[in-house]
Amino acid sequence: MRPGPTPGRTPSSRAAASSRVAGPSEAVAASDWEAAVAAVRGAGLDDEVQLICHVNPDGDALGSMLGFALGLRRLGFTRLRATFPGEFDVPEPYRALPGIDLLVPEQQAYASPALTLIFDVAAESRLGGLASLLDGGSRVVVLDHHASNTGFGDVALVDPGAAATSVVADELLSRLGVPLDAEIAECLYVALTTDTGSFKFVRSPSVHTLAARLIATGISPAAIARRTFDTRPFGAMKLAGEVLGRALLDPAAAGGRGLVWTYATTADLERHGQRPYVLDSLIDPVRGVAEADVAVLVKELVPGEWAVSLRSKGGVDVSAVATALGGGGHRLAAGFTAYGTPDDVIAEIRPLLDAHLT
Ligand code: 5GP
Ligand code: MN
Repeated sequence: MRPGPTPGRTPSSRAAASSRVAGPSEAVAASDWEAAVAAVRGAGLDDEVQLICHVNPDGDALGSMLGFALGLRRLGFTRLRATFPGEFDVPEPYRALPGIDLLVPEQQAYASPALTLIFDVAAESRLGGLASLLDGGSRVVVLDHHASNTGFGDVALVDPGAAATSVVADELLSRLGVPLDAEIAECLYVALTTDTGSFKFVRSPSVHTLAARLIATGISPAAIARRTFDTRPFGAMKLAGEVLGRALLDPAAAGGRGLVWTYATTADLERHGQRPYVLDSLIDPVRGVAEADVAVLVKELVPGEWAVSLRSKGGVDVSAVATALGGGGHRLAAGFTAYGTPDDVIAEIRPLLDAHLT
């Protein structure tokens, strides 16, 4: 069975889409959009369709994936599974996202789906054990916005100018004729606000045009913001106090532009009874330090293994630094996985900061 005709978007949303200033349609080749639409249309409604986002998923990874999954459900697809690699620990703020019923642990992923859609994943290494499923003959469409994307997959919709992967997801949903509804919009809105720092890092009016279309479905930005950014356990606040309290300022680093850094261990998490996701937002107060261009947060995932978050105010290309260390990301926000002690990690990063001044 093939997807039947679906209602188009309203004239006003079509107009909004066509008036994009720097939308994804300009960065992604028309032939790639067409190939992605053909890949979805080419799958039968009863075929297995798998959606995957990156390890330790954030709001953009989960929001763009679940929003798109709901769009596929609206098209009539009946066999949908969404998943991500690693421990099945969905951060508390995202547990009530619409479409969360489609999310399964990686152990329950389809072994050989007809179609695989991948969200917010810059490199196959971010797929953990699920990467092996890409060799199984499934048609693979990648939706992403990382400049460091390696171009893996059969169709790569990669727009480094897009504020979030949800911008790319919205465009593909639009091209598939899926009308926005409040559930899809909530997912895409969470994704958009997460990756733009609540619209602080926006570079194009098209982001607000998209936000306006999402809000017009009736979602509540205030309620979503409170749930997503402003609700944390008491223990997470106490943990933040400790982690921020041990930050170090290194004014000579990065060619004198300055580095501020801190770290959090699994022991810190245990002591405060917290799960790792509560550390994700801690890079924000660190990056606000006026005396440093570069901010680094070194987060212990399992003993001796660290997820490193890098941020720059523009004086250093931290994507190049992260890529050199096996990770990736954006010019002003990037990350990689490291081993050893936090001091070892900083010792690795420091010379690379000097090598990638902008
Ligand atoms: P965060 O510091 O918020 O985890 O990530 C910042 C940016 O860097 C995000 O765009 C994220 O996708 C990317 N990033 C973080 N860690 C890694 C990594 O280990 N590998 C790659 N390729 N990108 C990463
Ligand atoms: Mn993203």
